[in-house]
Amino acid sequence: MNRIFLKRGKEESLARRHPWIFSGAIERIEGDPEEGDVVDVYARSGEFLARGHYQIGSITVRVLSFEQEEIDAAWWEARLRAAWAVRRAIGLIDSPDTDCYRLVHGEGDNLPGLVIDIYGDVAVVQAHSVGMYRSRQAICEALRTVYGDRLAAVYDKSAQTLPYKAETGAVDGYLYGGGASTERIVTEHGNRFHVDWGVGQKTGFFLDQRENRALVGHYSAGRTVLNTFSYTGGFSVYALAGGAREVVSVDSSATAVALAVRNAELNFGPDVHHEGVASDVFDYLKTTDKQFDLIILDPPAFAKHHKVLGNATKGYTRLNARALSQIAPGGILFTFSCSQAVSRELFRTTVFTAAAIAGRRVRILHQLTQPADHPVNIYHPEGEYLKGLVLYVE
Ligand code: SAH
Repeated sequence: MNRIFLKRGKEESLARRHPWIFSGAIERIEGDPEEGDVVDVYARSGEFLARGHYQIGSITVRVLSFEQEEIDAAWWEARLRAAWAVRRAIGLIDSPDTDCYRLVHGEGDNLPGLVIDIYGDVAVVQAHSVGMYRSRQAICEALRTVYGDRLAAVYDKSAQTLPYKAETGAVDGYLYGGGASTERIVTEHGNRFHVDWGVGQKTGFFLDQRENRALVGHYSAGRTVLNTFSYTGGFSVYALAGGAREVVSVDSSATAVALAVRNAELNFGPDVHHEGVASDVFDYLKTTDKQFDLIILDPPAFAKHHKVLGNATKGYTRLNARALSQIAPGGILFTFSCSQAVSRELFRTTVFTAAAIAGRRVRILHQLTQPADHPVNIYHPEGEYLKGLVLYVE
């Protein structure tokens, strides 16, 4: 096996079980590892530290284990069983009203670079590293062992998430079962949604907003609701279920808006008080003459890296200031950031600036985060990415 030796003192973060080894920490590499190979990591003194997937880039190793154990079929099965046990503890396995959830959340489940989402009897696997991609058959087998008859198909959707330069030639498709269709109707808190993992964004649905959507439902009774960056209408359906008077879903993707309209009708029939608008959110906010009692701002990650944090902050400020200026008196604003690079503190400061610009009296009612099936490994605080605030605007 290829062996990687760290510079003096660089073993400290591994001793604290942080799962990444950066290129700057490496003194020398014994052997000639290829991207995706399993490598062993040693301290300068020769002491074994960890075993993980080798990567080309600033993160050079993503740790799979801090022990010298075989990464074989039994290992994959044990890791997936552990992830499954967490979802059972949360109440997501055999839940009467929810059949879609995240089974594996990367570092949060001690499987860096791997995401697995469950949609009914289908698992969608997304590899963010070549090592995970090369293990996809083993992962598929382990999923089948853990789920047995409950699993009808496993779909690999890694083509867009693998590192740009890896040249894996990855093509999305079923690893097991399936057929021509990549669509099904799932249930979340009793609400129904069309999900298409073949053409949809991410694995097909944004499962990380489940709990926050329920809170939107709670505040929606009798209100007019604007759901911006709506994607397929997750928040919109909950708002309607919660008794909203009218809901408008806005997204720049016409395909997503069409599916939001279908999802509203799927739950509430053709006469539902829902309108889908395919538009840039900034343009919509500038031109609409409607006033809303509840607004949801769930933009995509404006900052993918720390380097572009300045621009991202300006984007969040502009968006929030606009919504805070326009919301009806006594209105409720749900505002989110899913940029990992934007800290909770920075996000709050940004929204504070927006409130000051809008000149409104604003109270924080709730501080939101990602749900329990997107757990944060305590040794990897970077895994906490979703931040939200619920504001009461006088
Ligand atoms: N709230 C959604 C997830 C939002 S993901 C849910 O609960 O499912 C972000 C969405 O923003 C994507 O659907 C993307 O198409 C859309 N988007 C990105 N930039 C946009 C813009 N400038 N105007 C409108 N929509 C945009």
